[in-house]
Amino acid sequence: MLRIECPCCGLRDHDEFRYGGDASVTRPAHDDPDPQAWYAYVYLRTNPAGPHREFWQHVIGCRQWLVVERDTRNHAIASVDFARKLPPRKSLARKSPA
Ligand SMILES: [Zn+2]
Repeated sequence: MLRIECPCCGLRDHDEFRYGGDASVTRPAHDDPDPQAWYAYVYLRTNPAGPHREFWQHVIGCRQWLVVERDTRNHAIASVDFARKLPPRKSLARKSPA
């Protein structure tokens, strides 16, 4: 069983959490008109065999959103931190013309 060390509540079974998706994906700027950037954001994902950053929410607990770095091969968790500590994301999809 996967157990996640919540920074607020301590070690808990994964049944108390909800998976929230890939934490390595960068959302395009709200006004980005490039359909390819939005397509990539919504549909394209890697399927890594190894360390992967994921969003998890502790729904039966403190309700905090967390970023969990988990090895997809053996479910070993390398780190857990609050998602709110992530730096603001900037779109990498849109490049200014040269
Ligand atoms: Zn918690």
